[in-house]
Amino acid sequence: MLPLVALVGRPNVGKSTLFNALTRSRDALVHDEPGVTRDRHYGVCRLNEARPFVVVDTGGIAGQEEGLAGATARQSRAAAGEADLVLFVVDGREGASSLDDDILQWLRKTARPVFLVVNKTDGLDSRTALAEFSRYGFADVFAVSSAHRQGLDELLAKVLAKL
Ligand code: GDP
Ligand code: MG
Repeated sequence: MLPLVALVGRPNVGKSTLFNALTRSRDALVHDEPGVTRDRHYGVCRLNEARPFVVVDTGGIAGQEEGLAGATARQSRAAAGEADLVLFVVDGREGASSLDDDILQWLRKTARPVFLVVNKTDGLDSRTALAEFSRYGFADVFAVSSAHRQGLDELLAKVLAKL
């Protein structure tokens, strides 16, 4: 079985953009699971001739616990809970939000290894962007731009070293 990496974060931070950037290889398999979940997509990352691993793009992990949103949140937590590594994606433009704090609090309980991925750093000073999240205390932090494919090689190298 291939190792599993889960992308977790609040809506609109760029999880799906990162997912597409990581899984864009020709034979990447992307599919919904109708009836099971609203927003949970799997693909295979085979970038840079590296060892392949499965990536799961989760929906919103925190927020409402009722109805469809609640079901999505539960699916996201399940995906993160079974992952070999979680990439906690945040928005380098907007900075840390209380929803990020909530997600992080939950992630700490899963006891899965977590890297902090500060996305949307294109056009930003990456040290400033990372400093905004320094209070989270992560050892592994990456400034990336999923949309412009910046910082992905460094991220990929560290992900592979962890799997
Ligand atoms: P998700 O809800 O976390 O899956 O976020 P999406 O991947 O759907 O992206 C939300 C918005 O952020 C979209 O408008 C993207 O084009 C934009 N976005 C994603 N990644 C980047 C990035 O690296 N830089 C910039 N400037 N915008 C981005
Ligand atoms: Mg998405």
